[in-house]
Amino acid sequence: MEKPLPPLVPGTLYLVATPIGNLEDVTLRALRTLRECDLVAAEDTRHTGQLLHHFAISKPLLSYFQFNEARRSEEILDRLGRGEKIALVTDAGTPGISDPGERVVRAALARGFRVEAVPGPCALVAALTSCGLPTDEFHFAGFLPHKSGQRRRLLEGLSQTRGTLVFYESPYRVVKLVEELASLWPRRPVVLARELTKKFEERLQGTPTELLERLKTRSLKGEFVVLVGPQPEPEGEREEDVRSGPSDDLPEQASRVS
Ligand code: SAM
Repeated sequence: MEKPLPPLVPGTLYLVATPIGNLEDVTLRALRTLRECDLVAAEDTRHTGQLLHHFAISKPLLSYFQFNEARRSEEILDRLGRGEKIALVTDAGTPGISDPGERVVRAALARGFRVEAVPGPCALVAALTSCGLPTDEFHFAGFLPHKSGQRRRLLEGLSQTRGTLVFYESPYRVVKLVEELASLWPRRPVVLARELTKKFEERLQGTPTELLERLKTRSLKGEFVVLVGPQPEPEGEREEDVRSGPSDDLPEQASRVS
């Protein structure tokens, strides 16, 4: 027989990841945490109210969003001090990833409270792991600033960053981002991961120039993660060609750089 799960720990802040589009992606532990906690701190109480309603969970909600983070963090810490078990959720995905959470986590840890992750959906991870670009090294840059000069500087600063670059972007600025990528890194492979886990999920891939051509004939709606792979190495200079060299394990022909 399975052991009963340990109860939630009083005075703990639980960071609960929620679905990014498909309600079936909620985890059993997320549901139990939401069911057993004393309070749910939510980015948008109405949105989270609907999620809780869907799973027949009724809980007091406290709004916790970008512009009341400082004040609400204090209130959350007071309540943790009184031994409450608090779940923090955002509208979708993992709290703290381009979403509120970082501030209250830091403050809770600084005051010696227990913080636990209840991991689950995250658009960054879903996009990266399903896009076919390297996953061994990557850099998540979140949302770029809106102003052109700041965006350009930020992108230029990432030119030498190794691995896959990952951005969140609104549908209104995706084309602008692809244009910026075309002017900076015309040969790097790009993937636009759209509406992940939802009905119209798709991945558009190509060089920035190829993508711009395709985007001329279609409108872009929904949510996007934009991924940029490393610059392709010139023929004959790929790392594995250089690394392999003549080897006892390989027939000479296979290890020769062509
Ligand atoms: N905390 C969330 C997470 O863990 O992914 C991210 C929140 S951020 C405010 C919202 C952005 O995440 C969207 O603008 C989009 O770039 C990306 N995103 C969220 N859900 C997505 C989905 N289903 N498909 C593609 N991108 C998504």
